[in-house]
This record gives sequence, structure tokens and C-alpha cells, in this order.
Amino acid sequence: MQTLKELYKIGKGPSSSHTLAPERACRLFTETFGAFPYYRVELFGSLSLTGKGHRTDQVIIDTLPGETEVVFSLDWEESFPNGFYLTAYDESHTEVHKWTVFSLGGGSIEIKEYPLDWAREVYPEKSFKEISSKLGWSSEKLVEYIYEKEPDLPEYLRSILYAEYACVENGLQVEGYLPGRLNIMRSAEALYEQALSCNSSEKDRLLLMAYAYAASEENGAGSTVVTAPTLGACGVMASLCYYYGKYLNYPEEKLINALAVGGIFGNLIKQNATISGAVGGCQAEIGAAVSMASAACAYLEGLGIDQIEYAAEIGMEHNLGLTCDPVMGYVMIPCIERNAMGILRSVDAALLSKHMSRIKQHIVSFDMVVNTMNETGKQIPIALKETSEGGLAKEFEDGQH
Ligand code: SF4
Repeated sequence: MQTLKELYKIGKGPSSSHTLAPERACRLFTETFGAFPYYRVELFGSLSLTGKGHRTDQVIIDTLPGETEVVFSLDWEESFPNGFYLTAYDESHTEVHKWTVFSLGGGSIEIKEYPLDWAREVYPEKSFKEISSKLGWSSEKLVEYIYEKEPDLPEYLRSILYAEYACVENGLQVEGYLPGRLNIMRSAEALYEQALSCNSSEKDRLLLMAYAYAASEENGAGSTVVTAPTLGACGVMASLCYYYGKYLNYPEEKLINALAVGGIFGNLIKQNATISGAVGGCQAEIGAAVSMASAACAYLEGLGIDQIEYAAEIGMEHNLGLTCDPVMGYVMIPCIERNAMGILRSVDAALLSKHMSRIKQHIVSFDMVVNTMNETGKQIPIALKETSEGGLAKEFEDGQH
């Protein structure tokens, strides 16, 4: 598995695969070859079908230093479903350089013609079973294992934690409407105010949802958020961090460790299945985020490694088959509300793991459920994988006519 730094990244919304990944590829292209007067970028797959709503074309035009034509195409012949060709031309319009870029999910990219340094393997183990077999019961052993592999990770995760706090805080302060044709009113601040006036049994749950709304609305607005594991699913971990760090005042070091613990599960999902909605549907984004946050929450609640794994497994198992059908291609409906539901499912998963593990041994492992998610993702029709051609997106479109 790769470094957790490649899982958690700070970037501008609304979509890690549609804005962050193309931006990273365009930047790297310019750093590698320099500037050219003309560029052509041909988008395929989900990037082509929902690139407009996700602002892919705008990010590419803003990042490349020359006159840029962005073309939305459908005749993609590469093996990975989501990608684009990036071509530079000289003054006489002669092709000079061309890359084939795959957007892997969570802002990660692969370039056919250019092997990337950051794709280097840092963790030799391939499954959670391999990782946990040497560690015993204590969750601190899992944290030690991660920092042994990546000694400089805590400082990096501190910057991620601050970015999580900032996006929730910013989202709680802004009112008005999100950009785009859906005309969606921002609700995080109002939800937060309602939470404060609720009785205690509703208050904490509403606060968690308000924090998730805040981060997800920031993402929908194209502001800075964190891939956890993707930008579309950014609200789940952001809410967990803010609730434990700022509301319950847990120590910063604990929150950093929780990001590391959740990150290992996200990384395993990324390696053994996918974190791309265009490849596996929303189970790969919100499902993965819930699994990560369930593990992180279980760690913060002082559970052991086996219970953390069980929480991560529950978090993913009950999102299996979740489809991706963003209305009009905007990362807003169902995405923002889904982040709010996702954080509640995460806290519930940790709670169920804590108590159920006192009653009986769980049968389904985290590794099993990740393989299941991967296979399920392959069977989800393409109309329900970030193309906006099915599900709520289609229902909404049909209702407009
Ligand atoms: S439905 Fe899920 S996977 Fe699809 S864009 Fe929204 S958050 Fe991402």
C-alpha cells in the first residue's frame, strides 16, 4: 500500500476524481515539460458525462498555462474507465507531448507514459488480516505499526486535522446558495443553530450532521476540503474530527492517531477495491468514508484492534451496493445529505462493535467485505456510477421535462 499522504490530501472541491486529479495531472505536466501555447484535453467516461457539473473543464483551463480546448468524448479505449488525454502543441500547432491520465479516485492519478514516485509501496501487507496478525489486542500497537512505516506521518496528519477543522468552521459561517443550477441553499449554519437548542439526546446527533453538512457544502462550493477518502465524501471524517476535537475536546494527538487508524482502512479499500464512485458507485466513496470513520471512532472510544476492525467492517457492509447518481452532475444531491447520514452510521457502527463484541465473535471480516464491495461495484450498471444517467439524477431530469 502507498503512503497515507496519498489518501488524505487537501484540495478544492467539488470532486477529487473530477477536479483534484485533473488539476494535479495538469500541474505535473507543466512542471515536467514547461509551458506551451496550446493544449487539448479530451475527457472520457464519468469525467466526460459529469465533468461540466463537477467543473472539470474550468479547473483544467485555469491550471494549464496556454490556450486550452476541453473536449467531452465517449470513445475511450483504455482499460480503466475514467480518464483523459492531455496534449500540448507548439506555435505551429504540432503535437509535442501527450499523456494518458487515469483518475483513480480520491484525487490519485496514474499516467500511462510517466511512472509516479508517490505510487511507491510503503506498507508491504496486503490485507488487514496480515497487518493485525502481528499486533495483538491494543489499538496503540496499530498506531505504532503505522508510524514505524511512516515516521513523518504525525506532522502531516496534523496539517490534515487543521484543514478538517477549518472546512467545518468555514462551512458553519457561510449562508446563501451553492453555485450551479440546482439553486441549493446552504443549511449547515441553520442546522447547527437548531442542534444547540435541542435536548441532549438529539443535540449530539444533530451537531455531527451539521458538521458533515458544513464540510460537504464547502466542497459543493468548490472551497478547500480534505479527501477522506474523496472530496465528495469529505464530510464524514471532517465531522468526526470536529466533534471529538472541538466539541468533546479530545487531545490533538488522539485525533491524529484516529486519522492514521481510519486511514489504514481507507488505504486497504483503495488498494483491494476502489475509492472511485465512477468505478464502484457511492459505496466506494461514502461507504469507504463511513468505514474509515467507524474505525477512527472505535479507536477514539478506546476499543481494541479486533473491535476497530469490526466497526470498519460494519461501516462498509451496510453501504454495499450504494449507487452514485449525482443530480445534474453536481456533488450536492444526494451527496451532502449522504455525508450527514454517513457520520451517524459511523458512530453507530463503533457503538455496535463495542457492545456486540462482548456478546459474540463477528463472522464477516473487513477483508471479506472489501472484496465483496469490489465485486458488487463491478455489477453496478454504468448508469449508476457517477454518470448521472440513472437513479435520482435520471428521475430529476425526467421530472424537469
Ligand atoms: S453520490 Fe456518492 S460517489 Fe456519487 S458524487 Fe455523490 S458522494 Fe460522490
